[in-house]
Amino acid sequence: MSSIEMVDRTDKTDWFAAGAPHVWRPYCQMKTARPPLRVARTDGALIILEDGRELVDGIASWWTACHGYNHPHIREAVQRQLERAPHVMFGGLAHEPAYRLAARLAAWLPGDLNHVFFAESGSVSVEIAMKMALQYWINRGVMGRARFLSFLGGYHGDTLATMTICDPEEGMHALFAGVMPGQHVQSLPRDDAGEAELDAFLGRHGAEIAAMIVEPRVQGAGGMLFHDDEVLKRLRRLADRHNILLIFDEIFTGFGRTGSLFVSGDSSVVPDIVTLSKSLTGGTLPLSAAIASDRIFDAFWSDDAGAALMHGPTYMGNPLACAAANASLDLFEEGRWKDQVERIETGLRQGLEPCRDASGVVDVRVMGAIGVVEFDKPVDASGLCARFAQEGVWIRPMGKVVYLTPSFIVSTSQLAELTSAIRRVLAG
Ligand code: PLP
Repeated sequence: MSSIEMVDRTDKTDWFAAGAPHVWRPYCQMKTARPPLRVARTDGALIILEDGRELVDGIASWWTACHGYNHPHIREAVQRQLERAPHVMFGGLAHEPAYRLAARLAAWLPGDLNHVFFAESGSVSVEIAMKMALQYWINRGVMGRARFLSFLGGYHGDTLATMTICDPEEGMHALFAGVMPGQHVQSLPRDDAGEAELDAFLGRHGAEIAAMIVEPRVQGAGGMLFHDDEVLKRLRRLADRHNILLIFDEIFTGFGRTGSLFVSGDSSVVPDIVTLSKSLTGGTLPLSAAIASDRIFDAFWSDDAGAALMHGPTYMGNPLACAAANASLDLFEEGRWKDQVERIETGLRQGLEPCRDASGVVDVRVMGAIGVVEFDKPVDASGLCARFAQEGVWIRPMGKVVYLTPSFIVSTSQLAELTSAIRRVLAG
């Protein structure tokens, strides 16, 4: 009997013990970390563990499962597509799910954000947006615009290029300082003085910058930091004044999370490129997109083959993922998300407000379906996570924040369970 068959057999009795020595876990010092919780299945806003416990999911699997897990409409769409074609390469071939999805995204996004390039993960879509920006200038015959401007508190991914545009301290990649080429990371211009400062900075460095990139309204993984739309207007103004492209990374904020379908447009600012992922498929399958304006696309439209965007991830436009995304868009079209997010916003305000009095809490803030309790110093994320699980909820704090980003279908009582668990745990 081969060793492969033997592993298969033992797997059936204890898949965790068989796999644990081989799985490299994310964001985890595996030597000291608690073992992960074993999930049997998911349902709506619930994660059901192997031991039978049901946890109300407070973070919708890293902000993806906006319609809840196993939504029947998405599941049926994926099942139908599975029968037809689970995957087919995108180079030289076209399929309905991706073409329909591209047309819908172009119609939903504001302005002339008309050109959709698909990938599989958020980080890769940000890399593609960066590559589009760099090549935009090269194709236009402008040399020397080889760097990016990003913002303190920002997070754009874990791949090498995206690491360079994260907050150098809060963006999880401080260890790599000096290893990767440095980018310009500045403060967001929150007032006139901030705008003047950034203006002066761009006066000195603008000619070497291809694009500025920001998570609009909410900087997520860098600390759930909010800013108002005026900041985005300032960025658009500065980008135009210094002839720099503006990229909105809406991987977290897109699809209703802040109360608007997209911050692009709703903030009255239209970026030159926008990135989407996470809730794009309703949290069902990996998919992302970098979507460019006509102006960007036109710089690649040429008789010169060398001007093309030389990019094509193997699984780009995966039909199953695009079918899931189209089904998720159907659910957004039904329009219930807006009331759901408003209801969640009210519940988060009521439920989290008392946390202001807890020891070490410096701020409580809510925007749309995002609720944040911020502490004066980094929290014991793993210890808190375990405590929350004992309380019957799945909440994974990060840095200085305990936060909630539940799925939009979370019931009022489930939401109350989430906020009361936070209150109880903070009270000790
Ligand atoms: N950009 C933003 C704003 C994100 O929040 C994330 C992930 O949290 C990413 C990019 C990276 O996405 P992914 O983890 O799918 O690579």
